[in-house]
Amino acid sequence: MSKIDWVTQELEGLRETGLYNHIRILSSPQGSWLVVDGKRVLNFCSNNYLGLANHPRIVEAVKTAVGKYGVGPGAVRTIAGTMDLHIELEKRLAGFKGVEAALTFQSGFTANLATIPALVGKEDVIFSDRLNHASIIDGCRLSGARVIPYEHNNPQALEAVVKENLDDYRRGLIVTDGVFSMDGDVAPVDKIYKVAENYDVLLMVDDAHGEGVLGRGGRGIVDHFGLHGKVDVEIGTMSKAFGVMGGVVAGDKSIIEWLSQRGRPFLFSSAMTVPDAAACLAAVDLLEGSTELVNKLWDNTRYFKAEMKTLGFDTGLSTTPITPVMLGEALLAQEFSRELFKAGVFAMALGFPTVPRGKARIRVMISAAHDTSDLDAGLEAFARVGKQLDVIG
Ligand SMILES: *Cc1c(COP(=O)(O)O)cnc(C)c1O
Repeated sequence: MSKIDWVTQELEGLRETGLYNHIRILSSPQGSWLVVDGKRVLNFCSNNYLGLANHPRIVEAVKTAVGKYGVGPGAVRTIAGTMDLHIELEKRLAGFKGVEAALTFQSGFTANLATIPALVGKEDVIFSDRLNHASIIDGCRLSGARVIPYEHNNPQALEAVVKENLDDYRRGLIVTDGVFSMDGDVAPVDKIYKVAENYDVLLMVDDAHGEGVLGRGGRGIVDHFGLHGKVDVEIGTMSKAFGVMGGVVAGDKSIIEWLSQRGRPFLFSSAMTVPDAAACLAAVDLLEGSTELVNKLWDNTRYFKAEMKTLGFDTGLSTTPITPVMLGEALLAQEFSRELFKAGVFAMALGFPTVPRGKARIRVMISAAHDTSDLDAGLEAFARVGKQLDVIG
């Protein structure tokens, strides 16, 4: 017996129950088509909503910045100083989002880990949507605050738990994903804001899947609902529509200043790299310069969903480019995904525990990088596999 035998047993268990993650290896950029395990396949998996991950103008901007600044930030910003590039990015992001100030982090995940514990502690309470992202859940745990989950996207249920519990604590925080990544549904932030306002509770929205997607020209969920100045703190990521990597917190300037003093991933982990920051700046330029990519993303989304419905597929509750194709049993979803791959389409099967039992699905991620002919190739494969596996008639 060795002291790590339990690890090999756990891994074995994952393989036996079909829960082991097999990661595909790409030897191409993230575009509408990929080379995966040596095979050319249509990309229906990535969060690269606008096709910016390999955009020539962004690649060019990175080369120029690396020529001037090199690659690494040197140390954490409070110790080694901060590059003007990062400050410029934060100003531009604040301008884009229409908020007072913004602060960047290494990722959306660390932005949540920084923000929640800086806003609430042991004496406080967090009201958290039951289906919130793992990084929100971990941020809540780190804070030491009492966490009260409320029924998914239900402002009445939220109000009931706020009313019942708020008085027992020093202060409260309501936190929700903006767009939920498994179903593609949008949080009713307008109604959630009413609850936050009535009870004077802080409101935080994680707009990871809304950034570059929702609102005018991709300005996000706050813009989508016209709630400027009303959501206290917005989390964003540059790893999805921005096509890069990095997190951002946007909102009230005193909250942003507080995070630069008390956000632990800000104080104890180095900044985004130069290529990341330069790429994100170029992404803001592109988004502010034209709404063409965002419009194309939505045109593609409407086209694909309508055609899938005509074929007889159930695309669930989504109102965003995230398109779940509901299949039911996890084994069916996995087989469907394997058959699609054989037909040249890379689309992920999601089963329990990522989604509830009996609600397994293939999740198709639509992008502005797709052309109509790409979407048609995907639809044809879905039609063929759907008939072969008796999902559609
Ligand atoms: C993807 C995602 C994150 C993590 O973002 P990264 O920048 O990739 O770390 C955080 N929150 C939500 C809601 C997400 O969907």
